[in-house]
Amino acid sequence: MIRDEELSFIFESSPSRVVFGAGSLARTPEEIDRLGAKRVLILTTPGRKTLGDEMATRLGTKAAGVFAHAMMHVPVETAEAGRRETALAAADLLVAIGGGSAVGLAKAIAAETGLPILAVPTTYSGSEITSTWGLTEHGIKKTMRDARVQPKTVLYDPLLTLSLPAKLSATSGMNAMAHCVEALYAQDANPISSLVAEEGIRSLAKALPAIVRDASDLGARSLALYGAWLGGISLGATTTALHHKLCHVLGGAFNLPHSDTHTVLLPHVTAYNALAAPQAMMRVGLALSPNGVAQSAARLLYELEAGMKTPLSLESLGMKRDGIERAAELAMERPFYNPSALSKEGLCALLEDAFEGRPPRA
Ligand code: NAD
Repeated sequence: MIRDEELSFIFESSPSRVVFGAGSLARTPEEIDRLGAKRVLILTTPGRKTLGDEMATRLGTKAAGVFAHAMMHVPVETAEAGRRETALAAADLLVAIGGGSAVGLAKAIAAETGLPILAVPTTYSGSEITSTWGLTEHGIKKTMRDARVQPKTVLYDPLLTLSLPAKLSATSGMNAMAHCVEALYAQDANPISSLVAEEGIRSLAKALPAIVRDASDLGARSLALYGAWLGGISLGATTTALHHKLCHVLGGAFNLPHSDTHTVLLPHVTAYNALAAPQAMMRVGLALSPNGVAQSAARLLYELEAGMKTPLSLESLGMKRDGIERAAELAMERPFYNPSALSKEGLCALLEDAFEGRPPRA
């Protein structure tokens, strides 16, 4: 139950049409017809090229090409190559099939061309349901928001996630978890985004360990994808703070893997913000530990990750200790909202803990 003094907020609902369920991939042609498209460019990562080719076969004469060069953090060169391909194909719809990288490339093309996107996510990044998009140039990742790039239709088919290896499932799921956690203490958190975020945390906390135990568990896969959708909605409905800022800095400047970086940082940023956002922490704790919160939210997140054997240190992701100070400086270059005050010393201490993979501070 919310308190009455909290009843002052702005809420915008997400305009995407969502088709969710095992086998929903088969509905792609009718969903494309619904959007009135005639020439479809399919976008994916090199690793999902077969899936892209299968989609082209499924779409028959409507498939105008498969561009399987999507990359993490959308380098400007990739976005430009994708735009050239879109023009050559004379496409009137972009179909992104894959993880956040495929969706990110589609958004970067849509931002310039105004083309609609139909997204078929195969990870738990949540990008398919947001209007946020990123572009990386000279090691700096810029994030923008534009309602035009939000996919018009999203087909969530948990069958497509069965091939996602257990480790990547856990870290990708923790990426969605991070959207939920940060939404709970966002400057513009509202009652709806917080309900969605809590349900997202609850779903992911139940589903991810089950997937790590048995990657073929379709029930757990459905629940994780549901949690990822909720994570994406939470992210799209609020503005981000320190956690996403640090992940973008580390991803852009040090090319660290996206979902692993989210996973390693989440308990430490949660600990950093714990004192300044007690209500949010209580909600995170309750969602992670429905039988009663015996530990801090940060510690519960860390233990969830340790139990799934995800990476716990930035060092294990290939970061060098001498990057810590630079990362803290980059994060503080421009002011942004965060519940706890930011200081270079504080961020260095946080990153030092994450670098070593220590349990989060009490
Ligand atoms: P990804 O899309 O880069 O995929 C990671 C790897 O997994 C790739 O090699 C891919 O081919 C492979 N893969 C994808 N689905 C698979 C499956 N079902 N089975 C087997 N392999 C599969 O990773 P990601 O973490 O989903 O996306 C990261 C990118 O998304 C980053 O650039 C990040 O900034 C962006 N992102 C954006 C938002 C947003 O709202 N704008 C939100 C989250 C992430």
